[in-house]
Amino acid sequence: MTDAFSAESRLIHAGTERTPGLPGTPPLAPASIYVSQGIPRPGRAYGRDGNPGWEALEQALGGLEDGEAVAFASGQAASMALMLALAPGRERIVLPDDGYYGGRVLADRLRPHGAVPVPVDLQDLAAVERALTAAPSVLWAETPTNPLLRVADLARLGALAAAAGAPMVVDNTVATGLLQRPLEAGATASLYSLTKSVSGHSDVILGAVVSRDRELLAALRIWRSSGGGIPGPFEAWLALRGLKTLPLRIARQSASALAVARHLAGHPRVSAVHYPGIDKPTSELARRQMPDGFGPLLSFEVTSDSADAADKVVASSRLIVPATSFGGVESTWERRARWPAETAPAGLIRLSVGVEPAADLITDIDQALGVLLCDVLLGHTRSTTTRPGSIPRPRWRS
Ligand SMILES: *Cc1c(COP(=O)(O)O)cnc(C)c1O
Repeated sequence: MTDAFSAESRLIHAGTERTPGLPGTPPLAPASIYVSQGIPRPGRAYGRDGNPGWEALEQALGGLEDGEAVAFASGQAASMALMLALAPGRERIVLPDDGYYGGRVLADRLRPHGAVPVPVDLQDLAAVERALTAAPSVLWAETPTNPLLRVADLARLGALAAAAGAPMVVDNTVATGLLQRPLEAGATASLYSLTKSVSGHSDVILGAVVSRDRELLAALRIWRSSGGGIPGPFEAWLALRGLKTLPLRIARQSASALAVARHLAGHPRVSAVHYPGIDKPTSELARRQMPDGFGPLLSFEVTSDSADAADKVVASSRLIVPATSFGGVESTWERRARWPAETAPAGLIRLSVGVEPAADLITDIDQALGVLLCDVLLGHTRSTTTRPGSIPRPRWRS
């Protein structure tokens, strides 16, 4: 398909067939072997090296950012390959202190095989610059961050990374390539957990890297084949199927999430709301960087800031599913600090807004927050519970 058509049209048609007599949509090809003898054809001899379903998915994903995609078994498998490909010759992986905790944990585990993780606040550009210039580094950015939805300036981070000779990776899972295009801000690679909004139906674990750097793409394919973190054919098929409706889903989810965030901001039982679209010092930057919407994910804190109160609210929903992850068609929420390595405030609830009508979500949230009102009326006081062995929590600026 030519570039005369929009990214959305190319996305919807990725993998569709135009040859008479063939299935219109990409067939599922569960193959561990291909018919092959003599010199093996790349990707068509053994199933660990290639599958037609990965290629259709990669074509669609790459098209969103005018790059090439390499799909992996999960977002973490993609991160691992990226860290292993970029770490040699560098000493540091400079990453956000409030980003996805799995990235920090993985970088720490890979320390003996590569670089030392150095957590920084990505909104503090002077601190980022100091970290990048102190030693050869990789800048591992994430914006908006999961779960605090803090926004960092990609253009300025890209310039700092370029000046320091550091490749910049951007975890683009929360925004997706429809809302934010990191490669245009100078990123070497965009990283995705396709598990979230891209596949969109809470039935797949998958990941990908998108890049325009041929050398890096080749290294990633080698790590994928030899490390074996390959997408399953069925998972790739499901992700491609989900990806085709991403533009519709993300538009509706972004609009509903903004409506829900505004509602929560005025709610007497809520002390803080985290969403790029509502008033914050970075709202202006967020609107410039993500002009088409801010995605499905938001988080908020209940007035008592206690784990018990947040747990009660989560347990009281009738529509929103208590579950982790985000970006599915069904709304989900969880108290985020229930995960041991998470550094979010104890009472923070992370909400993924699905495609249900926003009014229904607001009805459900209001009735769930109503359990706190009962506590107030009954005179119950609650203390903040801390989990044994948890790491100290940073104090977040709003
Ligand atoms: C979920 C997530 C990942 C990890 O992806 P998996 O598919 O669960 O391995 C990485 N980054 C972010 C921002 C995520 O939300």
